[in-house]
Amino acid sequence: MRVFNFSAGPAVLPESVLRRAANEMQDWHGSGMSVMEMSHRGKEFISIFEKTEADFRQLLNISSDYSVLFLQGGALAMNALIPMNLLGDKTTADYVNTGEWSKKSIQEAKKYCTVNVVASSEDQGFTYVPAQADWKLNRNAAYVHICTNETIGGVEYQWVPDKSDVPLVADMSSHILSREIDVSSYDVIYGGAQKNIGPAGLTFCIVRKDLLGRALDITPTVFNWKEQTEHNSMVNTPPTYSIYIAGLVFEWLIEQGGLVQIEKMNIAKANLLYEYFDSTQFYHSPVHKADRSRMNVPFWLQDEALNEKFLSGAQQRGLLQLKGHRSVGGMRASIYNAMPIEGVRTLVDYLKEFERSHG
Ligand SMILES: *Cc1c(COP(=O)(O)O)cnc(C)c1O
Repeated sequence: MRVFNFSAGPAVLPESVLRRAANEMQDWHGSGMSVMEMSHRGKEFISIFEKTEADFRQLLNISSDYSVLFLQGGALAMNALIPMNLLGDKTTADYVNTGEWSKKSIQEAKKYCTVNVVASSEDQGFTYVPAQADWKLNRNAAYVHICTNETIGGVEYQWVPDKSDVPLVADMSSHILSREIDVSSYDVIYGGAQKNIGPAGLTFCIVRKDLLGRALDITPTVFNWKEQTEHNSMVNTPPTYSIYIAGLVFEWLIEQGGLVQIEKMNIAKANLLYEYFDSTQFYHSPVHKADRSRMNVPFWLQDEALNEKFLSGAQQRGLLQLKGHRSVGGMRASIYNAMPIEGVRTLVDYLKEFERSHG
């Protein structure tokens, strides 16, 4: 039996995608092979790869000015690869610090350049996004880095920073494909796949082609965006099976009506939770209303002594992985694209029931 899995990542995938992958596991489209067993240069896999990239481009409306790469190493590897690929002859980069994932990006970048933290919401426990008017940007920075959805803190940009001459780099790991975005407002968009796309390890990188060619000499070839662009992400063997699963998820998204429909559904799902939290004293949501994430919803029980009881009751109802991240505590419901609205309704029913019996 399937549960409602509120994990922040790796996370729930559409059931129909899992069923299809299961059906095709041993014999993909009459090839007599599993996708896992195919040569990455053979015509079968190339057809999967090309469709996957085309669907990703279609969903996000990515123009030919951008290279789309499917790499490995996850978003944390990208924390090193971003300075390596973008510094060129510059020595500094700007970072906005909105929480745990921003902090990791900053820490790693410091190994390669001087990092200027140009704005931070640490003063209020990372519960908001600092307004762009308060960012102390540097004209000489190689780029400015933001995390547009802080998976742990549940803080999401509901606006797009104004463009400047300094390239804008965004970690979108945990909300890519959850809403419409204008890709041309960014210069690099990257993330790990395991929140909204597919298996962990697969890493997507959407990069403006005119930024290619700035890599430091020490950049490993397999992580050099220019090399990978020239070789269609196949300098090395790409994560073939993960790319195939991502392709099935993209097809599923297109069947759902694309990002317009998905975004509507995500707004409806998030509203069910936030409206309830705003109507009661028993639970509370720590994030400023304007910056609340539609994907990751942290919440606290007013009486934290009830946490264990809350979690075990949830588990009995098939509502899993609601415990907040170990670094911040509390609870967190991650409600990615593949979480059906029935899952969120079941959670809200349980929240109410638990409040009635313990409030
Ligand atoms: C999950 C996550 C990461 C880390 O991804 P890995 O695949 O573990 O490297 C980085 N940034 C954000 C915003 C995330 O949600």
